[in-house]
Amino acid sequence: MLPLFACHNRSFYPRVYYDQRSFLRRSMMPDHDNNPLRRETLCYEEFGNLYLNITNRCSARCIFCIRNFSDGVYGYRLRLSREPSEEEILRELEHFDLKKYGEIVFTGFGEPTCRLDTVLRITEWLHKRGIPVRLDTNGHAALMYPGRDVVAELKAAGLDAVSVSLNAESEEKYNRLCRPAFEGSYPALLEFTRKAVMAGLRTRMTVVEQPGINIGECERIATGLGAAFKVR
Ligand code: SF4
Repeated sequence: MLPLFACHNRSFYPRVYYDQRSFLRRSMMPDHDNNPLRRETLCYEEFGNLYLNITNRCSARCIFCIRNFSDGVYGYRLRLSREPSEEEILRELEHFDLKKYGEIVFTGFGEPTCRLDTVLRITEWLHKRGIPVRLDTNGHAALMYPGRDVVAELKAAGLDAVSVSLNAESEEKYNRLCRPAFEGSYPALLEFTRKAVMAGLRTRMTVVEQPGINIGECERIATGLGAAFKVR
């Protein structure tokens, strides 16, 4: 699931093009040891937040996903050759002054809940230190972990906020745009959002503006569930 766009990856078309230009611009900069393009990025700063890129796996294949167009955003290389271990994530976090960020956000080039247990443990670690944590998600987690109450576990770990990708006002349109791996993903993400609101998490739904998507109807769905709404 990112700033103006809340999904775990940058999927807003104009942003994609901007990022691609930025990526190219930075790739033309002289090489030096701190050039983020030469490293795979686990943590990156933007908009006063710190974003965590812990996996490239996802339970969807959105047609607008930036992974289809680029290896990263803002000049950071987000395509991973392997997933970092929890110890590596914590070691990396210890390099940052975490108090200075508005939020630490699980997002990046994949769906963070593909590593739910890691998200839970890192959230607990951050929460114990008084750091606000947000999860940007496609909302499919209940289908990935049948028998678990994912929202309750996230709440118990200390998660503060969640941003769920809605992307369409109907299941038929959602399936066409997002090509989810699981049948029933659309009702599952609506239920995930409803539970997040009920659990007291600061909750919003987001939509990537696409031809044929009824933004007004998407907003009605989000606000009807008690969530805030954002067009990315
Ligand atoms: S849900 Fe997955 S495929 Fe869709 S935009 Fe997010 S990371 Fe990309």
